[in-house]
This record gives sequence, C-alpha cells and structure tokens, in this order.
Amino acid sequence: MNIPFVSIGKQFEPLKEEFIQVFKEIGASGQYIMGEALEDFENEIANYCETKYALGLANGSDALFLALKAMNIGEGDEVITCPNSFIASAWVIESTKAKTVFVDCAEDYNIDVNKIEDAITSKTKAILPVHLTGRPAHMDEINNIAKKNGLRVLEDSAQAIGAKYKGKRVGGLGDAAGFSLHPLKNLGVIGDGGVFTTNDEHLYETVKKLRNHGLKNRDECELWGFNSRLDALQARIASIKLKHLDNWNNRFREIADIYRENLSDIVVTPIDLDHEEPVYHNFVIRVEAEIRDKLMDFMLSKGVETKIHYPIPIHLQECSKNLEYKAGDFPRTEAYAKEMISLPIYPELNDSEIDIVINTLKDFFNKI
Ligand SMILES: *Cc1c(COP(=O)(O)O)cnc(C)c1O
Repeated sequence: MNIPFVSIGKQFEPLKEEFIQVFKEIGASGQYIMGEALEDFENEIANYCETKYALGLANGSDALFLALKAMNIGEGDEVITCPNSFIASAWVIESTKAKTVFVDCAEDYNIDVNKIEDAITSKTKAILPVHLTGRPAHMDEINNIAKKNGLRVLEDSAQAIGAKYKGKRVGGLGDAAGFSLHPLKNLGVIGDGGVFTTNDEHLYETVKKLRNHGLKNRDECELWGFNSRLDALQARIASIKLKHLDNWNNRFREIADIYRENLSDIVVTPIDLDHEEPVYHNFVIRVEAEIRDKLMDFMLSKGVETKIHYPIPIHLQECSKNLEYKAGDFPRTEAYAKEMISLPIYPELNDSEIDIVINTLKDFFNKI
C-alpha cells in the first residue's frame, strides 16, 4: 500500500456535486470577480475567525504583504520574524523594502519569545510571528513586547486556520493576520486564495482598497494599489469547505494524538500545551541528524512518503544574501532543519494507514 504525503483528490470526491452547483451558479451570474459570493465568504470567515473584518485575497502571501503595506511599513523599517518558516514569511517583508530581522525558533518551532527583545532596534516596526505547523505562537508574550515597544503584530496564520490560543481563534490575536487557501492548507480552494483578517477598521479599509487597484470606488483612486482578489468561484468553494473545517481539524488532532501515543518513545513528538488547540497542518517529528535521511528513504521504500518543513532555513537561502546572516546565527533553526521529518497527516488518512506509518517507523528503529 502507498501512503502519499498529501491526498487532495480524496477530499474533492465527496464535495464534487456541490462544486458543480456553484460553478453553474457563478457561471450564469456573470459576477466572476467581487460581488455576493466573495462578500458571503468574507462574512463567514470573519465570523469563524472571531474578527470584525475579513477580506478574500488572491493568496496568503498577498494577505501578509498588503497588511504590511497598510501598516505603512517600507524602506528604512525593520520587521521581526522567524527563519524556521516557509519563504513567504520573509519575502512579504522584503517586498515592502523593509528589512527582515530574524529571531531563532524555540522547541515548538515557533519564534522564541525570549529572544525577540534583543532583536528590536529603533527601526523595528512590527513582529510577524508564524503559527507554524498549525500551532499558535506565544501571542501574549509577543503582544506584550509589541505594546511595550510600540510595534504592530501581524500573524502569519497560513498554516493555522481554526487553531485556538487561550480559547480564541488565531487571526484576531494581533493587529492583523494572513491566511492561505492554498490547496495543501487545512482550508484549501481549487487554486490560489488567501484571507486577511483584522479588528482594525483602518487596516481593513486600506487593504480593501489596496487589493482592488487602490480604488475608493469605480472611478476614484486613493492609493497606488495591487490586483489581489479572491475569485467569486473560489470564494464559493471556500464557503462549502468551511462547513467541514472543524471536523477536519478535529481529525488532524486525532491523528496527531495517535502518532504521539505510539511514537513519543522513539522520536521527538510535538506536545500540546494546555492553553492551545493546534490544527496540525504538519506533524513534525525529530530524529538524530545522522539517521534522518536514511529513515525517510526507508519509509519511502515501504511506500510511506514524508517531507521536510523546511530543509533550508530562510536566512541560509540564496535570496537572503542581502541580509548578511551566516550559518551558526540561528542554532536551533539550523539544527532542527537537519532533524525534522513531517509525517503524512490529512483528514482522509484512515486508521490502518496511520498504523502503517507508525509500524514502518518502528521497523526502522528495530533494524538499527
Ligand atoms: C503557505 C504559506 C504562506 C503563503 O501562502 P500562499 O497562499 O501560498 O501565498 C505563507 N506563510 C506560510 C507559513 C505558509 O505556510
């Protein structure tokens, strides 16, 4: 049996008929961009994320980038984030012409809140914590540091839709947030998509214009803008899938629990803290660096596909040369990049497939 790392097709099948219905509805309406479908989804997702406002955008990176633009962040400014993340967490900062300042991760893979204050300078304007793997960053500490230093907080919630921190959903924990609707994320559309959320009316009004050419209305333009809107068709797809999200996220957590119960004796598994409800976009284990690649090869030879999130820390990517970091600057991120493995995790994974993943891993350790 083969267990692929992702399984998008299995989620499509049971929803196919509903998708065809909205294709017919939107097709006949002629309203392919903006309009009712987008507004409906924006109301639903704001409601879901417990925020006053939400906007559907072309992708999650744009949600972060336009949020930074709306915060007036640009040349001469600095924004703090974590090098243990997907590249977009940093390029959205670089694209505003602000400088990316990295802070190492902690054991939970999220930004180490004890190291943030050391990275703050007179130029720092914002902190961009990533809720990596679907686990909320330590938002109380981050918000306190931000408040003390007059900084904005932008949550990179791309991997964490539905996750809770001290009973509240991510997306409304800082000044603004960006979510991704990329097909591989916990709420994925049939293409690219993203969501911006905030409780701040000014940020909302500004991103609303920025995503639509900077237009205030049909004919008057207030700002130099961008074109970054979620299509009506994708908005309807997202609305259909949103109804299933809590069930899916429960299954993500259930699978995580099974992995943890069965594997925590032989590998390092993530720990759920009492105050959080992660959504396990990725289930990341750690093993000794010397055996990591052998283990992945062994599992693949048995039909179990695994991945690394992420093998090259952002500060060591070629594009980061201008930031002048070097190997050794972020020891934890660099060490984890050599030790981490992401196991298959998606709601459609059944119990016997989970058993195979677990037994294959155990087999490897029995053999060495
Ligand atoms: C997926 C992802 C993004 C980017 O989302 P897109 O919709 O692909 O633009 C940003 N940050 C993180 C941490 C992500 O995982």
